[in-house]
Amino acid sequence: MEEEFNAGRIKGAAKRTLQITPLDEEDQEEVQIDDSGDVDSYDDDDETEEEDEDKEPVGLGVLEKPENSWSLLRELFPSKAGGTPAWLDPINLPTGKSCLCDICGEPLQFMLQVYAPLTEKDSTFHRTLFLFMCTSMTCLLKDQHEQWKRNQDKQSRSVKVFRCQLPRDNSFYSSEPPRNNGKDKPSSPGAVLCGWCGTWKGDKVCGGCRRVHYCSEKHQTVHWKSGHKQRCLPSSISQDASEPSNSKTLREVQEVASKSLWPEYEIAITDECEDNVSDDNGLVNSLISSSRVDESIEALMDSFEGGDDKKSWASFQERISRTPEQVLRYYRDAGAKPLWPTSSGQPSKADIPKCTYCGDHRAFEFQVLPQILYYFGVENDVHSLDWATIAVYTCESSCDGHIAYKEEFAWVQIASQSSTTQR
Ligand SMILES: [Zn+2]
Ligand SMILES: [Zn+2]
Ligand SMILES: [Zn+2]
Ligand SMILES: [Zn+2]
Repeated sequence: MEEEFNAGRIKGAAKRTLQITPLDEEDQEEVQIDDSGDVDSYDDDDETEEEDEDKEPVGLGVLEKPENSWSLLRELFPSKAGGTPAWLDPINLPTGKSCLCDICGEPLQFMLQVYAPLTEKDSTFHRTLFLFMCTSMTCLLKDQHEQWKRNQDKQSRSVKVFRCQLPRDNSFYSSEPPRNNGKDKPSSPGAVLCGWCGTWKGDKVCGGCRRVHYCSEKHQTVHWKSGHKQRCLPSSISQDASEPSNSKTLREVQEVASKSLWPEYEIAITDECEDNVSDDNGLVNSLISSSRVDESIEALMDSFEGGDDKKSWASFQERISRTPEQVLRYYRDAGAKPLWPTSSGQPSKADIPKCTYCGDHRAFEFQVLPQILYYFGVENDVHSLDWATIAVYTCESSCDGHIAYKEEFAWVQIASQSSTTQR
């Protein structure tokens, strides 16, 4: 039964969490060191845990065009990228400052969501993680400095993650798995969303027509300028108007007016092939020394100043190149570590704030690769959005509580750490 809910999605996720061995747990406790923030002191640790981690397959996310127009609806519990979020709890959406870039104040753009239920308790029968970011590279570079601040309250972020979970019996969806035939329906309608971004709750309404809702004044203004000005009719007039124009207005409420959302894809998750994952260091060393290194890789490697970065980048690149189309790597497993592209710009344990809601530690759960920007059609020039990896950390106990969308933590590693920190 349970597997049918997430068929084709993160099938291994639930299984893997059940395989936490006592050994892993010990390892984890051991890592509770201090606040020194010395990344180097964790290096040895990384290496031993990496070997353990290699035994469990990593879930690789690749982007596919959705099979059907209904494939990514919220009642199908999708993992998806681009477009608008398929909110799991469709009513109690994040509000206020949570929806905004803390740096420029623009509403954040939806990047992706991962359906990652946990079998360990009923409250996580459905569980989805949502990742948003500001599309401004200027903001992301400022975000870089913010994420190093240890005091969470003072961090101004341009990348945000939310975790939402529901028990099997809930008021939004049937307790039976969806039939996936296009006829599944949610049990109740969702909140009215912004007519511009289709992402955030539309709790402001156009004063003219009183029909189009907005998440923010910014989106109302941009919609007004981009054509709503011509179409907006006072509600008294539009009620008198002919049926076609009335229904057109109604449809506008549900449609997303913005053309700048990222294109929509389904995220299909497959296990990383295990037989390739065995002898990492051997592969890396042979890659560095052998003539298999092609010129572009060599050129990129030259751009790293330190030898550690060079080696770590080569290792990263080699691992990724086994499935070059991957955009996401998922591993919810005790002691799992991200695959860092560079050795600089990695957080220490103390850089990952504890869960704001229950105080538990946050554990690494998945990382997003910059390859996704290619699918999103983001230009590859100096001022364009770019990063080396985004690692998402979530509450280890995946705690419950009255807030439907709990903010989790993202660590962003920028492509060339040494040059960005000098700006
Ligand atoms: Zn911003
Ligand atoms: Zn909006
Ligand atoms: Zn209007
Ligand atoms: Zn928690």
